Amino acid sequence: MAGRPLGPHVGVRYGHLASMSAGVAVTRARWELHPLAFERPEQGRRDETVTCATCGGTFTVRVLSLDRTLRRRRILRVLQGAGVAVAVVCAALLAVTGADAVPALVLLACAGGVTAFFTAMRLRLEVGVTPRRPTVTGLRGHRMFRGTDELPP
Ligand SMILES: [Zn+2]
Repeated sequence: MAGRPLGPHVGVRYGHLASMSAGVAVTRARWELHPLAFERPEQGRRDETVTCATCGGTFTVRVLSLDRTLRRRRILRVLQGAGVAVAVVCAALLAVTGADAVPALVLLACAGGVTAFFTAMRLRLEVGVTPRRPTVTGLRGHRMFRGTDELPP
């Protein structure tokens, strides 16, 4: 889980919710995708206003400096490691403890595993660009997608 290489420029994509169609089992959303390119701030973070090419609506995304992005990745990596460690230790303890401790240990092992899994997913996507309000309603029918790749400077 090395994550993608990071540079002074970052490319992501955002989607404009074009339509929702209710299928048999799942609701399928169709997104009109637009590329976005940002130059990272030297340090700290910068809020960028994005105007949607489809509907003209605006939303704000926060772009982190390279430093901050790397720090965030480090924190996620530590969390991921801690999750794995908890899961492994609890699984190992299961073999040596009595039946009384089993439910608690299983719960802890699962919690550790789930934490590790989700931080790993998050780590894969972490490029230092996040919507200020990361909800569908806050973005008014828009969503961020991972970019194709880093853009050349
Ligand atoms: Zn739009």
